[in-house]
Amino acid sequence: MKLSTKILIALALGVVAGLILNLAVPDAFSTLDKYVLKPVGTLFLNLIKMLVVPIVFFSIVLGTAGLGDPKKLGRVGAKTVGYFLGTTTIAIIIAMALALVFKPGVGDFKTEGAKFEQQEAPAVTDTLLNIIPTNPIQAMAEGNMLQIIAFSVFVGFALTMLGSKTKGIMDLIEQGNDIMMYLVNLIMKFAPYGAFALIASAVGSQGMDAIKAMGLYMSVVILALFIHSVVAYGGSIALFAKKSPLWFFKGFAPAMSVGFSTSSSNATLPISMKTAQENLGVRKSISGFVQPLGATINMDGTAIMQGVATIFIAQVYDVNLGLTQMLTVILTAVLASIGTAGVPGVGLIMLAMVLNSVGLPVEGIALILGVDRLLDMLRTAVNITGDAACAVIVDKGEDKHLGTREQEVSA
Ligand code: ASP
Repeated sequence: MKLSTKILIALALGVVAGLILNLAVPDAFSTLDKYVLKPVGTLFLNLIKMLVVPIVFFSIVLGTAGLGDPKKLGRVGAKTVGYFLGTTTIAIIIAMALALVFKPGVGDFKTEGAKFEQQEAPAVTDTLLNIIPTNPIQAMAEGNMLQIIAFSVFVGFALTMLGSKTKGIMDLIEQGNDIMMYLVNLIMKFAPYGAFALIASAVGSQGMDAIKAMGLYMSVVILALFIHSVVAYGGSIALFAKKSPLWFFKGFAPAMSVGFSTSSSNATLPISMKTAQENLGVRKSISGFVQPLGATINMDGTAIMQGVATIFIAQVYDVNLGLTQMLTVILTAVLASIGTAGVPGVGLIMLAMVLNSVGLPVEGIALILGVDRLLDMLRTAVNITGDAACAVIVDKGEDKHLGTREQEVSA
């Protein structure tokens, strides 16, 4: 059986097992969760997280060096950021429109006693200013993605400029990358078990009452995620890469299922890159540049949750948002999704920033807290799919500059 089929089966089994255990034997579930599911899930997560920092470093250095001259780098960078910003804006607009139509927040919601400890969300300007690390080793030790990306771009650029003088280092980095990719393959063999454990654990610990009460909100988020994936990703793949959307989604499905089970774009990165390179034929240099950047700043799924949640909270508190406020929400949600780190649950923390921007009560977040774990899984899968769609499109656009992949391979 193919590995991707195995992972999908594990996902489905995980959902079923989690549900049955949750509903039938809740006590037995917590013991099983504590001693089996959580440890197996954590083991899998740690295994892939172990590879993230070295992979980001090696692949971005190689990606930047592989793109060669600064002009190419600028072109790829501009297209990538343009795609990210464009699709994220579309995502929020779809989300807000659906929430306005379906009105998930109109009804009987208890807001007294709702509390949400607002955590300090990093200011977006700080995030942007901090892109240049004062200490690259520290950035790597702390796993600060944007800083690692910036440092790697500089190193890759220097390698291109120095050419044959630094061939030794270049070979070393290429071999380092091969080692990491080999390890990704190895760890992926464990993915079906890890995914099963993570999903069963997440589904099993859900409060079913919360899900019932928040059914409409969840449905609107899920519908928006679905429409966005089909329209924005499927559409842009067909339009710009001249490829079938089905081919894209089928090829990328294994990574989506890992993103779904880990709820972390960053942790899924090694697998997203491998899947895009092997199943969708994206050049290593493009995938190595676009996907790590996307895992850090491009979060359409998160923006969708933030869009629906903002309208939902406005409806619950009976606040009418005018056009200017709607535009403010769009702008801040784009920024908030850029500032959201690719780890579980951060999207919700950044939501506070969006609510603050239009004076909505941050306590409203308490209402959606209970169901966010499940939605986090779905939106993470969408987040990484957006990065892959961008990689495919940018890769295709480079054919006329770099030659087709076939020509490149045979050269
Ligand atoms: N878990 C999401 C991700 O890693 C971020 C979020 O929305 O919380 O992509």
